[in-house]
Amino acid sequence: MSEPRADRMTRVVEMMDRLIGYDTTSRNSNLALIEDVQGYLADLGVDSRLVHDESGTKANLWATIGPTDKGGVVLSGHTDVVPIDGQDWTKTPFKLSEADGKFYGRGTCDMKGFVAIALALAPEMVAANLSVPIHFAFTYDEEIGCVGVHGLIDEIVANFPKPRAVIVGEPTMMRLVGGHKGTRVYRTRITGVPGHSSDPSQGANAIFAASRMIGYMEQVNRELEAAADPECPFVPPHSIVSCGMIQGGTAHNIIPEICDITWGMRLLPGEDGDAIQARIQDFIDREVEPMLKAAAPHAGVVTTLEVDSIPLAVDTDSPAEHLVKYLTGLNDSHVVSFGTEAGAFQKSGMPAVVFGPGSIEQAHKADEFVARSQIEQCVDFVGKLIDWAKTAA
Ligand SMILES: [Zn+2]
Repeated sequence: MSEPRADRMTRVVEMMDRLIGYDTTSRNSNLALIEDVQGYLADLGVDSRLVHDESGTKANLWATIGPTDKGGVVLSGHTDVVPIDGQDWTKTPFKLSEADGKFYGRGTCDMKGFVAIALALAPEMVAANLSVPIHFAFTYDEEIGCVGVHGLIDEIVANFPKPRAVIVGEPTMMRLVGGHKGTRVYRTRITGVPGHSSDPSQGANAIFAASRMIGYMEQVNRELEAAADPECPFVPPHSIVSCGMIQGGTAHNIIPEICDITWGMRLLPGEDGDAIQARIQDFIDREVEPMLKAAAPHAGVVTTLEVDSIPLAVDTDSPAEHLVKYLTGLNDSHVVSFGTEAGAFQKSGMPAVVFGPGSIEQAHKADEFVARSQIEQCVDFVGKLIDWAKTAA
């Protein structure tokens, strides 16, 4: 017998309170939270495996409830949250509070609420004698570009039967999301040669060089826009190149030596980001760097890829989509323009969807919240998943 929703909700709220209490802003360690979760699962008789980052201060957690000789359904969530710096909170960010049918706190919506639901229903999963396993994949450093999940995916691929479906519980208002764009972030340092601005021939202007690069990016962006397929379901219906930050120069009368730009792409699934990058690099090689190097050999342009979060390609035949539709009665799947870890799972051969409580509108903001009704819907969903996993083949 499955438990009444009210009993489940009591345990979910306790677990949300427990998880929100850890300040797991991405710059901090998440180990206190992860070790607490590991201990909680151990008390239920559930083994889990941690996959640490290089510094040993952060970890992903992987756990399986049910048979270990076959792949099951993954409930996946990140444990890190975005900073509260500079935000005007009227609630205490790292303490759960409830008012007007909403749970407040950093991470309630994005996405400790979902993780708490998975954990709070773990005792039922253990008691259910599952025929298809349910896995937990809890990660670090999602908010700085889906960084942590890659180590966990490598671990799964190397050591465990391949999961049949991954549900990434990012906030979608419990709408089924089967596709999203990818994100790349690059940093480029342009090094020129300083000198008195009264004699440009004595130097090389890093800001002029940057502006040519940025102008070219704008041109590439216009081309992507012009080539958009009107049938494409994404908003906007094309990939994007944009430059978001620029910093350079010291005074109006000094030829600027350094200019740093941060730029990036929002890529449709199937778009070749490497090819776009190669076009921009080719422009730099032809039109920007020679002028700098002519002034001084050490001058030039250096670009590094800082974030590469992989798009989720729409696949309406995906077993993950079928499962969520079957359990919920939903007929449609949607696409969103924010990135998640689902793309990385899919790229490694694990069918993935995004499906979770709360709205992305409330994510990353002051007084972040998730509606109680959203948490209830997701609790009901995980309850159905458990019932299904008891008897499914
Ligand atoms: Zn998130």
